Amino acid sequence: MAQVKTLDNLFHDTLKDIYYAERHILKALPKMAKAADSKDLKAAFEKHKKETEKQIERLQAVFEHIGKKPQGKKCEAIEGILKEGEESIMADFASSEALDAGLIAAAQAVEHYEIARYGTLQRWATMLGHEDAVKLLKTTLDEESKTDSDLTKLADSYANEEAMAD
Ligand code: FE
Ligand code: FE
Ligand code: FE
Repeated sequence: MAQVKTLDNLFHDTLKDIYYAERHILKALPKMAKAADSKDLKAAFEKHKKETEKQIERLQAVFEHIGKKPQGKKCEAIEGILKEGEESIMADFASSEALDAGLIAAAQAVEHYEIARYGTLQRWATMLGHEDAVKLLKTTLDEESKTDSDLTKLADSYANEEAMAD
């Protein structure tokens, strides 16, 4: 008979999903920083790489709180999102004036996936009574949301520059 699955199992599985995703994002961010044209965008990606290192540590702490060892589970979504960024932006728009706009769009797709996952995980951690995990997940969720809004600001500032140049 199939094992009865619980919200605890789902929380653990989803934690593995985002752990896998974060480690892939950590590898992608230096490539995105290298690809970016503008200094500001490069700096934004480098800053987020450092934050991502901490986020991975926070996830390891969450695993510890629920008595599990840190382990990833293949996340098809993040692989697809990162692959799309590499193929349709970094390759197809390399050395084009639209490159940075494309990189920001690709990075925001990543942040939105993370925001969806951390929002859910935080809610489930609350329901399951994992108080310490809630705090850790909230810290990262706020960081991802801030990154997303910083990227929007960068995108707007480029749009303004373009308009001024016309
Ligand atoms: Fe992250
Ligand atoms: Fe996933
Ligand atoms: Fe992020």
